[in-house]
Order: sequence, then C-alpha cells, then structure tokens
Amino acid sequence: MPIQPIRFFGDPVLTTPASPVTDFDKELRTLVADLIETMHDAPGAGLAAPQIGVSLRVFVWDVDDEIGHLINPTLDLSDELQDGEEGCLSFPGLRYETPRALRAVAKGFTMHGEPITVEGTEFLARALQHETDHLNGILFVDRMDKLTRKAAMQEVRESEWFNAATESGSQPIIRVSPHNTRGLGN
Ligand code: ZN
Repeated sequence: MPIQPIRFFGDPVLTTPASPVTDFDKELRTLVADLIETMHDAPGAGLAAPQIGVSLRVFVWDVDDEIGHLINPTLDLSDELQDGEEGCLSFPGLRYETPRALRAVAKGFTMHGEPITVEGTEFLARALQHETDHLNGILFVDRMDKLTRKAAMQEVRESEWFNAATESGSQPIIRVSPHNTRGLGN
C-alpha cells in the first residue's frame, strides 16, 4: 500500500466538508490501508481522508497501541472539557493548547459496512474530535481560543512549508469525486 503525500494547511481540500461514503468496496479498503500506512510513516496519532486529498468521511487513528478506523462517523460529546496540546499532520511542527470534550462516543461503520461504536476519553476522545472535525472542513486552529489561534497562525505564516507552497503556487489541484476514493491525480 503506498504512502500518500499529506496536504498542508492552505490546501482547499482541508476546509471542504467531505462526502459520505456510499460504496463499502475494495477502493474503500485500499483508502483505509493507505491512511494507516501514511499515518504510521508520518508518524501521527490520527489521519483523515481529506488530509491525503480524498474528500470522503473516513479517518483512522493509532492511540495507546490501538489502531482503528471509522466511516461516516457521528459524535456525542461530554459537557466536561479537557485541556491539552494538540498537533495536526497538516500543520507540521505546530502544537498548541486546544480545548476538547473529555469524553466522546463515535458511531459509524467499519470498512465492511458493519455498524460500530467507539468510546474514548482523554487522548482518544481528542483524536476522535480532531479527525471528525477534518471531515467537516474544521481545523484545530478553529477550536483554539482567540489568542492561541493568533499565535498559531503567526507560526503558520512564518513556516517554511506554508511559504514554500504559496510562493511557488504549488498548492495542489484538488480532484474530488465521491465515487473515486483515489482522487489523487496529482
Ligand atoms: Zn489534523
């Protein structure tokens, strides 16, 4: 399974709501395998399909040595919150305080189309919220308080990865189709 390039902040695919998966087919299983391999290569604790340019509601995680994936997830969150720093593979090097719900219950499907419920607290809850946000075009900077977000965006503007993409005009062309999970033509 090939490792896919990770899209960085500035790429429009990251701020576009992803489409529900309708076909639980071989392409979907390949997408899940690619996500897991790309997440491990990075390495990261979670990765959502839009981060590799595929605008479908799929994400994977690896938290406390448990690897999981969810298709078309919905989330129930506790009112109780947690503090803690968070990072994102689409913002290389950034880590900032990001408030999240302490507990999350995610309902969705496996890649074989079976219903599944995943319950998490603390870091797993944080990962489930972060990755579900990606499917809605929401990024962790959107969850930060105003001052933290300002500092984070300043670091983005000064970062090599952001400037390399914008100066060369090399932000990738996004090709998205809900029926083509491998929309990776570039
Ligand atoms: Zn992320």
